[in-house]
Amino acid sequence: MADPKGFLNHGREVARTRPVEERTKDWNEVYVPGSLLPIISKQASRCMDCGIPFCHNGCPLGNLIPEWNDYAYREDWGAASERLHATNNFPEFTGRLCPAPCESACVLGINQPPVTIKNVEVSIIDKAWETGDVAPQIPERLSGKTVAVVGSGPAGLAAAQQLTRAGHTVAVYERADRIGGLLRYGIPEFKMEKRHINRRIEQMRAEGTKFRTGVEIGRDMPATALRKRYDAVVLAVGATTARDLPVPGRELKGIHQAMEYLPLANKVQEGDYVAPPISAEGKHVVVIGGGDTGADCVGTAHRQGAASVTQLEIMPRPGEERNPVSQPWPTFPMLYKVTSAHEEGGERVYSVSTTHFEGDEDGNVQWLHLTEVEFVDGRPTPKPGSERKIPAQLVTLAMGFTGTDRDNGMVEQFGLDLDERGNIARDADFQTNVPGVFVAGDAGRGQSLIVWAIAEGRSAARGCDRFLTGASELPAPIRPTDRALMV
Ligand SMILES: Cc1cc2nc3c(=O)[nH]c(=O)nc-3n(C[C@H](O)[C@H](O)[C@H](O)COP(=O)(O)OP(=O)(O)OC[C@H]3O[C@@H](n4cnc5c(N)ncnc54)[C@H](O)[C@@H]3O)c2cc1C
Ligand code: SF4
Repeated sequence: MADPKGFLNHGREVARTRPVEERTKDWNEVYVPGSLLPIISKQASRCMDCGIPFCHNGCPLGNLIPEWNDYAYREDWGAASERLHATNNFPEFTGRLCPAPCESACVLGINQPPVTIKNVEVSIIDKAWETGDVAPQIPERLSGKTVAVVGSGPAGLAAAQQLTRAGHTVAVYERADRIGGLLRYGIPEFKMEKRHINRRIEQMRAEGTKFRTGVEIGRDMPATALRKRYDAVVLAVGATTARDLPVPGRELKGIHQAMEYLPLANKVQEGDYVAPPISAEGKHVVVIGGGDTGADCVGTAHRQGAASVTQLEIMPRPGEERNPVSQPWPTFPMLYKVTSAHEEGGERVYSVSTTHFEGDEDGNVQWLHLTEVEFVDGRPTPKPGSERKIPAQLVTLAMGFTGTDRDNGMVEQFGLDLDERGNIARDADFQTNVPGVFVAGDAGRGQSLIVWAIAEGRSAARGCDRFLTGASELPAPIRPTDRALMV
């Protein structure tokens, strides 16, 4: 156990962010660089090393949180990093981006602010990179088996790293021009600088994983050819089909899916464009959708110099405190969140629904018409007389994703079964109905989180390893149906 009195002596302190006026002028991460280490050992000392560590249950990866809290308290960063990597291939991604269901489940959270588990995690891994503790783990012997991983988001990368380390020869196929999936082109630089992905890819290359970008399976290479070429396939193609808003005026110029808008801003940071082809500069921006994707559009629009930013959400504003009846500890509660993007400005409007868009004579969107709604029998119902219009010269749709891409023919060419929600169906070993073809991440689970994608990638790798060799020593943190303590 860290310090038996740590939680009595120290309050919760979290990573400091840079002043809004400074950080909205650049694209670097919002945190004060290196701000954490001086406080982190004290924060880790608040961990009570619970007999039943609920944090561990709240985390889909089953992270060994009390163990690395203890090492962080003792400033044994090497041992802390070893424990962290025992369950998580990429703690620098989750340490920056995870909504931290572990903290919602922390026992200290029953009557005090929980341990800052996420900040401890990111401090351990940043220190490990700094001190050279993150070395390639090259397999001692090769199995002679080959695996294709399709998709290079967190699920694909986790599966590829596990399978490479198990001795298989692994190639990752990615249709985009760079590796990383939504980590690369969805999540903005100010939430996670892309150097963190590049560093991991170098580690993976050194371990033997091969990467092929610009190849879309189904379109550029038939799925059948891929299956013939490799002994097994892991599909980690995400749930990239975005939900649309088919209201009058949707065809106007200036209305884009969030995933048409955000990648271009990231490509500017990669040096592909001098200025983004879709920009919020000088425009009244409306973001439809109140979730994380919407918040990323808000932060991006601020940095591009929007005249105003309004985020719309059809659901009512959530409460700021956990409801002990409907969302009791240790479940992951739906609370009103103020992300770094929201701290930077803009307005959030709840319980509203878009009725139509209005444009100018050149076909550019100018106004968004909305109505307030109330939920009657579980359905959003317009409130009579509440219609109004707001200026909207750039609209981004961030209303979630409906499933895996069906346009490139991959699903049909493999002959894959889908489940009732349109995701690729799989058995308890993450194997699809096609023998030797596995699925992990959003493609099988539906739109979810990075931590689930990594957990799925690790678990599918075990299923795949068993298929190839008859047994596996790789860990499988979850089963396809697991929901842990999260919604
Ligand atoms: C804007 C945005 C912000 C988000 N922010 C967060 C956050 O802060 N925290 C969090 O936990 N989660 C966040 N999420 C969710 C998280 O990013 C996803 O749950 C996660 O990336 C899913 O990982 P994945 O590997 O399953 O799929 P993805 O990351 O979607 O990767 C799938 C990859 O497969 C490739 N691909 C698809 N089809 C083919 C094909 N036929 N051939 C070759 N390649 C193919 C795609 O190009 C893509 O690169 C966010 C999502 C979005 C959209
Ligand atoms: S639940 Fe909280 S206090 Fe208990 S072991 Fe986990 S992090 Fe420590």
